[in-house]
Amino acid sequence: MKHIAVLGATGSIGTQTLSVIRENPDFKAVSLAANRNIDLLEKQAREFTPELVAVYEEDAAKTLAVRLKDTGIRVVSGMEGLIEAAVLPSAEVVLGAVVGMIGIRPTIEAIKAGKDIAIANKETLVTAGHLILPLVREKGVRLLPVDSEHSAIFQCLHGEERSPVRRILLTASGGPFYGYTKEQLRHVTLEETLHHPNWSMGKKVTVDSASLVNKGLEVMEAHWLFGVPYEKIEVLVEPTSTIHSMVEFADGAVKAELSVPDMRLAILYALTYPARRPLSLPSLDFNKLKDLRLRTPDTDVFRGLKIAYEAGKKGGNAPTVFNAANEYAVAKFLNGESGFTEIIDRIEYALSRIRYIEAPILEEVFETERETREALNCLK
Ligand code: NDP
Ligand code: MG
Repeated sequence: MKHIAVLGATGSIGTQTLSVIRENPDFKAVSLAANRNIDLLEKQAREFTPELVAVYEEDAAKTLAVRLKDTGIRVVSGMEGLIEAAVLPSAEVVLGAVVGMIGIRPTIEAIKAGKDIAIANKETLVTAGHLILPLVREKGVRLLPVDSEHSAIFQCLHGEERSPVRRILLTASGGPFYGYTKEQLRHVTLEETLHHPNWSMGKKVTVDSASLVNKGLEVMEAHWLFGVPYEKIEVLVEPTSTIHSMVEFADGAVKAELSVPDMRLAILYALTYPARRPLSLPSLDFNKLKDLRLRTPDTDVFRGLKIAYEAGKKGGNAPTVFNAANEYAVAKFLNGESGFTEIIDRIEYALSRIRYIEAPILEEVFETERETREALNCLK
């Protein structure tokens, strides 16, 4: 039996994780955590009978506790509750699928408690990778990628522990605005932005995909997960999202992982690594792939990707500024309070304003997040 803590259970990755758990009788969800979607959490709790459910918002947690009274399932709240869900003694692996930097503390506490981490929550690695990776090594736990590109790279690297890597080739779909000019990008709507050509995901990551900020975050995520310098990470646009990423080795050999786009593959692999298990995905139809083409992204139009490389190379708290500004700006865009291209303007502004810290400790990561939000609040 594999005991799993699912953080972000009600989201896109969380619900797909639960569908993987449903189909594998030797997987058990021992805790579920979310922000406030208690209608779905109640259903999930009744179906999966975890020991513990964590609801971040206190009032919502109280309501759910009343609703679940007949089940005996414990309901906790706040950051303390989220951490409790992550460090539950019976959990072996924590599936980290909350969105944003809220995932940092529970991830760190879970590693300290000796849990393996299957991580979708890229913002945590981008902002605290320099603290998390040493901790992972110290505690001897596994850090398993769930993001599809990183899962692909991880799969390509399997069995290659002694092989030098020449390049990581991170693929991008290009998003709904691939091929747009700067001028066209200025006029896109929220509705157009939320319509991703290949994937159905949470809103924040869907906006990030359209701006290519997601790819920028993924470059930083790859840097931390695989210990590869930024000079060796390249992004290629592959509009069908069939090639999930590639690794080029020192002898010129390139390995790639391909499949129909479906996050369950990456989720399942993280939970069964180093083995594979059957999954009901359709086979690739290679006749339909005859137009498969890879191109270089236009970083003049999609400046977010270029800025992400700069922030990543600068290191210190720059990735935190980049990420926190993006989280802030995307929330504004989703609320209808700002335009699409202002997301990148805000990131640039924050990076020019926030004082640089070379090796931020955890408190300084959060302080940087606060300062970034305050600087952007003053801007409007
Ligand atoms: P969603 O927006 O669909 O889901 C987010 C989840 O996080 C929800 O369960 C939400 O709860 C929960 N959450 C938000 N805030 C808190 C909080 N304060 N405390 C506890 N739980 C909280 O996001 P996705 O599933 O799309 O993405 C999750 C992560 O995975 C992101 O980092 C994303 O970049 C990454 N990712 C996603 C992919 C995808 O296909 N969706 C692909 C690759 C990576 P509630 O529902 O109550 O608000
Ligand atoms: Mg991805």
